[in-house]
Amino acid sequence: MGRCQRHDRSCCSSRRWWVLHDCWQIRAIKNELGENDDDEDDVVSLEKKMQEAAMPPNVWKHAQRELRRLRKMQPQQPGYGTSRTYLELLAELPWKIASEEHEVDLAAAKVRLDSEHYGLSKVKKRIIEYLAVRKLKPDARGPVLCFVGPPGVGKTSLASSIAGALGRRFIRISLGGVKDEADIRGHRRTYIGSMPGRLIDGIKRVGVNNPVMLLDEIDKTGTDVRGDLASALLEVLDPEQNKTFNDHYLNVPFDVSKVVFLATANRMQSMPAPLLDRMEIIELPGYTCEEKLRIAVLHLIPRVLEQHGITNEHISIPEATVELIIQRYTREAGVRNLGRHLAALARAAAVKVAEKEQSVRLSREMQTEMIYHGAQGLGAAAAEADMEEEAMGIREKEIIPLATKPDPLLVDEVVLDTVLGPPKFDGREAAERVATPGVAVGLVWTEVGGEVLFVESTAMLGKGDLHLTGQLGDIIKESAHIALTWVRARSAELKLPVAEAGSLMKERDIHIHFPAGAVPKDGPSAGVTLVTALVSLFAKRNVRADTAMTGEMTLRGLVLPVGGIKDKILAAHRCGIRRVILPERNRKDLQEVPAAILKNMEIILAKRMEDVLHQAFEGGCPWKPASRL
Ligand code: ADP
Repeated sequence: MGRCQRHDRSCCSSRRWWVLHDCWQIRAIKNELGENDDDEDDVVSLEKKMQEAAMPPNVWKHAQRELRRLRKMQPQQPGYGTSRTYLELLAELPWKIASEEHEVDLAAAKVRLDSEHYGLSKVKKRIIEYLAVRKLKPDARGPVLCFVGPPGVGKTSLASSIAGALGRRFIRISLGGVKDEADIRGHRRTYIGSMPGRLIDGIKRVGVNNPVMLLDEIDKTGTDVRGDLASALLEVLDPEQNKTFNDHYLNVPFDVSKVVFLATANRMQSMPAPLLDRMEIIELPGYTCEEKLRIAVLHLIPRVLEQHGITNEHISIPEATVELIIQRYTREAGVRNLGRHLAALARAAAVKVAEKEQSVRLSREMQTEMIYHGAQGLGAAAAEADMEEEAMGIREKEIIPLATKPDPLLVDEVVLDTVLGPPKFDGREAAERVATPGVAVGLVWTEVGGEVLFVESTAMLGKGDLHLTGQLGDIIKESAHIALTWVRARSAELKLPVAEAGSLMKERDIHIHFPAGAVPKDGPSAGVTLVTALVSLFAKRNVRADTAMTGEMTLRGLVLPVGGIKDKILAAHRCGIRRVILPERNRKDLQEVPAAILKNMEIILAKRMEDVLHQAFEGGCPWKPASRL
């Protein structure tokens, strides 16, 4: 009897082989059935892989137990596949493999951050501080950095720069839309189709146990009946707790103490408080048009050209054109769409270059053929010298000009129109939409940064009802009721024309609509805009088109402060609105707004609703009430 192939030892030569297992019997049956030993070889190689994985002793014991179970099973048996997949995961996890940890070179990290990102000086400073602490105390369990801001402002790319500066591998785990705790922690193996959670899967994919792991869109996770996601995330994010992570599928603890966790979120408000507590928030509010221009010129265009295999010799995008793209084709806080549009231009240039190359090649082939046939036509040896001369002549006359430098595709307004289509935005939007009474321009804060929002209202015959449309949350609906109550209560003081006919709402319904009906809206900051729209409707006077506003209003007409001031002012600036009415108590937030933006804008601070109305209408508010309740 030889060495047992299945168990890679001489167990089967034991006299008690029938007691130990049925190895030889099975082999004999298989041989008779004509089946080969592939499965056995497989298990042997799996065991070898497991040994190489250098698992900690407790995990190794557990893995051995599982391997013994696998050996006793037939490949056709239910459970064989799952058991095998599980053992493969154990063998593939980087229990001991780590990227080599270099000492952090702060100067190099700074150069890298600067070379990869324009601006963001405060953020970069904080990152350098973070790296400095890691340099002095590599095992420091500092708070997890969380970059918060609208899409496309560079959150992910900053995280990947941190990984580069630390010399670690980088892995991004998307948590957007994750509702089930099992997505993070894995399913128990008793479930059919169970698998590890995203965290362990990420570690398996990255192949080292000390990567920089970015938990992307951490604010988009939710809680439902299937468990609390926040508590699963807390296990990794809590510096006091995050030594090991327990995945339900893995069923043995995995040491995550060497993983550097970073996180990104679009907004803080939707994050569970315990999670927020464990993280240090770094805000990236969005870029001004000038910043976007610099980012495009210094970073996006060179990157896009490189990605498309072309150079400045093939395409020329002047700064004025980039400005046009920013103003007419994008209206975002970040630069993602700007990058996409630049890529579209690069593709157009690539087509031009490729077509030209093809035609050059074709004409070269034709010319070669011409030379060849020409030479044949000349016949005698005496003509050989002439032939050479003639051929040279053709080359000089026709081939050389074709090989000269390509003329670059100069991207101007016409090219923009053909490649990107007609402009999506123009500066006249606000003026056109506010051209009728009942419309006011508000500033809101959404996940994609600040936004300009038009509030439209209209009146019709009815029974005094208020109709609201545009995917509104409860808070915004309440704001609408407060606004209508306030206007009705002050209809006489405001000298609204209809008030003379009795009740403002007598025999009429009011409909308020927030356009962009597909976007859910909520929050109190539309309060002042709603009142302004209603006063405009009842007074039949247009609101100033150059003015946008934000602020919560109490039932007594006080204007309360709101959040996201910087984003909102940037959004107004992007849309060409140069006058903004803000709550007086938001004065302190103006410090965060870039001076270059403030210089071009008129910021009006209002304490009461009457102040807002006074500023919102051309020539002030003639019906300004004498008494203030
Ligand atoms: P986010 O994660 O915030 O959604 P990304 O990090 O994916 O955004 O950034 C989108 C693109 O914009 C990336 O190509 C990134 O390099 C670029 N980008 C964003 N901000 C800057 C900046 N300040 N300087 C250079 N490039 C930037």
